[in-house]
Amino acid sequence: MVRCAHCGLHLPESESVRSADGQDYCSPAHQTSGPRTGLPS
Ligand SMILES: [Zn+2]
Repeated sequence: MVRCAHCGLHLPESESVRSADGQDYCSPAHQTSGPRTGLPS
């Protein structure tokens, strides 16, 4: 499982979108939006 760097959603790595900098996202739209800080850990 990986976590979307934008919205924090957990999803299987096989369904994630990985950006060039190694961040994982749930969708191309969130990859475009980029990482968002301040997510609850
Ligand atoms: Zn997301």
